[in-house]
Amino acid sequence: MIMQVFCDYCKQGIVGNYTISEGKNYHIFCFENHIQLKCSYCKHGITGQYLLDDWGNKVCGTHQLKQCSSCNRIIIDNTKLTLVNERYYCSNCMVSAINNTNALQSSYSKIISLFNQHGIQNVPATVPVNIVDEKTLRLNAKHVSAPNLRGFALTSYTRQGYLSAKIFSHTIYILSGMPLIEFESVLAHELLHTWLNQNEIKMSTQETEGFCNLGSYLVLSKANTKHASILFRSMIENPDINYGVGFRNMLKDLGKKGWHKLVSDVKGTKKSFW
Ligand SMILES: [Zn+2]
Ligand SMILES: [Zn+2]
Ligand SMILES: [Zn+2]
Ligand SMILES: [Zn+2]
Repeated sequence: MIMQVFCDYCKQGIVGNYTISEGKNYHIFCFENHIQLKCSYCKHGITGQYLLDDWGNKVCGTHQLKQCSSCNRIIIDNTKLTLVNERYYCSNCMVSAINNTNALQSSYSKIISLFNQHGIQNVPATVPVNIVDEKTLRLNAKHVSAPNLRGFALTSYTRQGYLSAKIFSHTIYILSGMPLIEFESVLAHELLHTWLNQNEIKMSTQETEGFCNLGSYLVLSKANTKHASILFRSMIENPDINYGVGFRNMLKDLGKKGWHKLVSDVKGTKKSFW
C-alpha cells in the first residue's frame, strides 16, 4: 500500500521528492517559495539571522549590505548605491536628491504656509539657504556637536536707527544630496530656529531642538508617505537628549495643548538674550 503524502501549504498530493520541516511535508517548490524565508540578495533560503527593511527586503545577516541613510531600504544592488557626504542612498532617494537651490522656493513656500496654518506666523520669508557638503556644514556649525548634522541656522543682528532697533539676519545651511522629503523636513526645522531667534525666544537646548523638530514633524505628517513615516520613526526613536527626548516632550505637550496654545506658550517664554 502506498501512502499518499500531502503538501501542508497547497494541500495537494505530492509525487516524488519533498521537504519535511517541523514535522510537516511540502512540495519542494511550495517550501522554497512560501515557507522558507528567501534572501532578496542571494535568492537562497535564509537559515540564520537576517535583516529586514520596511520595503519587503529580507537578506541573510552575513551579506553586510548597506541600508539607505534616508529611507532605510536595504540596497540589494551595490551598483545602485551612492555615497554622498558620508551617507548611503538608494536609487529611489537619488531621484529627488537636492543639490542646488533650483527648486527651493516651492519647498520654502509650502513650509511657510504649513506653519501659518498651525499658528506659527511671520516666519522669516527670505532667508538665504545654502546647500553645502558635509565639510562646509561642519565648518559653519562649529559649536554644534549633534551627530548626523543635516542642517544649521545662523542668526546675527545689527542695530539701526534712532531707537537702535535690532535688524536680524539669518542664514541656513543644509547638507546636499538628501532626497526632497528629508530636505524639506530639515528646512522646516531650521526655519523654526530662525523664527525663535527673530522673536527673541530663548528656551533650553532640549526645548529648542524639540520645538524645531515639530517643524519636521509637520512636513512629514503632511507628506504621509512610507518614506516620511520612516523618517518620523527615526526622530521618535532618537536617543539624543535634545533631538530625541526634547522632541518627545514637545509632542506630548502638543497633544495636550494643540498647536495654537503651544505656540502662544512658546512665545510667552520670550526673554531678551542678545
Ligand atoms: Zn504544495
Ligand atoms: Zn542571502
Ligand atoms: Zn532610500
Ligand atoms: Zn536644531
